[in-house]
Amino acid sequence: MGQPVLTSAAIVMCVHGAQAAVWTSAARVRIAGSAVLCTGDAATLSACPAQPPCLALHLAGANRVFASGRALAIGVSPLQHRPTSQGLVVHTQERVRVI
Ligand SMILES: [Zn+2]
Repeated sequence: MGQPVLTSAAIVMCVHGAQAAVWTSAARVRIAGSAVLCTGDAATLSACPAQPPCLALHLAGANRVFASGRALAIGVSPLQHRPTSQGLVVHTQERVRVI
């Protein structure tokens, strides 16, 4: 069934409850009026209460669906150098799903 595509309207948090600010670079592709997120787009955190705090989340990409040459974001995965930087997608659109 696939995963829902993340858009700029998605609510993404680190596991410590801080909400990430997401910035898209594929503003021409929209779902329900919101620009899609792609791998490499920024998901930055400024209020993580953990010590040391999470500063950013990595967006996980779809295997075969791209916008502006980059994979559409379908989830959040921890940074490789920092496995504790786990993220959660709390809310996103449900109309478009990809594998
Ligand atoms: Zn955190």
